[in-house]
Amino acid sequence: MNKKISILGSTGSIGTQALEVCEKHGFDVIAVAARANIGLLEEQARKFGAKYVCIYNEDKFSELKSRLADTSAEILCGMEGLCRLASLDEADIILNSVVGMVGLLPTLTAIEAGKDIALANKETLVAGGELVMGLAKEKGVKIYPVDSEHSAIFQCLQGNKRSQLSKIILTASGGPFYGKSYDELRSVTKADALRHPNWDMGNKITIDSATLMNKGLEFIEAKWLFDLIPEQIEIVVHRQSVIHSAVEYNDFSVIAQLGVPDMKIPIQYALLYPDRMECPTKRLSLIDYGTLTFGKPDYETFKCLSAAIKAVSMGGAYPCLVNSANEEAVGLFLNDKISFIEIGEIVSSVTDRFERFDITCYEDVMRADQMARDYVNGIAMG
Ligand code: MN
Repeated sequence: MNKKISILGSTGSIGTQALEVCEKHGFDVIAVAARANIGLLEEQARKFGAKYVCIYNEDKFSELKSRLADTSAEILCGMEGLCRLASLDEADIILNSVVGMVGLLPTLTAIEAGKDIALANKETLVAGGELVMGLAKEKGVKIYPVDSEHSAIFQCLQGNKRSQLSKIILTASGGPFYGKSYDELRSVTKADALRHPNWDMGNKITIDSATLMNKGLEFIEAKWLFDLIPEQIEIVVHRQSVIHSAVEYNDFSVIAQLGVPDMKIPIQYALLYPDRMECPTKRLSLIDYGTLTFGKPDYETFKCLSAAIKAVSMGGAYPCLVNSANEEAVGLFLNDKISFIEIGEIVSSVTDRFERFDITCYEDVMRADQMARDYVNGIAMG
């Protein structure tokens, strides 16, 4: 097995775990890209002998260039560099694990180039779902989900007829504040919100898990990835994160995928599909867990979740608007500019604030993105 892989976002949580998987199976990592962490990027480039190394933050380009001057790697930067790495002739698969809206254009570029994608960048489908899925179909490109829930659904679809699916069950850990009332959330601090019970992730997604926006975004992604209507998606709070999601078929048989909560399993499935080989993680012992629990999400308290579902039901640019508003609001929260509950208040105000319009091209996505960001910053200033 020497699949040639290009990794966009190699220094983040998904990227570093993907490299562990690549190392284990002897994959040929031909390209690595990071936003700003040149120390780790240099280390990865050397370790895997990457032919292409890209730094998104252009200020760090010359430093990276001099650090890797003794290697034959081609050094790139910015969005242009990311898009180049997304469309390399010699790459068999592109792993897109960059964080944020930045990930959309590289995804579209990879699809245009006919490259299969292991997709971890949520914004790609949340903000550009219609665009991305339409183009992927046209170009015959496969999108393998990396997120644990979507990977689980994808796995549960194998060997069954998609046309006989009745609904999907999207599991949610509930985040660190499950069971808390809205009033109790008023005093939540940044440190509280950054502590997640089951998963170790980057800051943005950890906050999204605490507000349940993460589940809202996954709801939208699932709609596009699996061509569902919102009524076919049921969210179930499952605290242990052992059942990663499930699919119900017309005969009411429910097929679930289980495993320890470790992203290396879904990452590996996306990269190795359809093969299954030993993963560098622990095996699941159901006996050690003893009990698995299930509950209903609190849509009233976790306003981001209801806002995301409302947005995808309303269609058009709304999913993109709520996503960008959330991204901006989370940034403000992490910079101590707004409180935890204000994230939900801001995100849920978006659907009322904007008139409906459709997304028909990349520029429409960018326009919606800017509108939402300006709106959020306007609120924060005033
Ligand atoms: Mn997930």
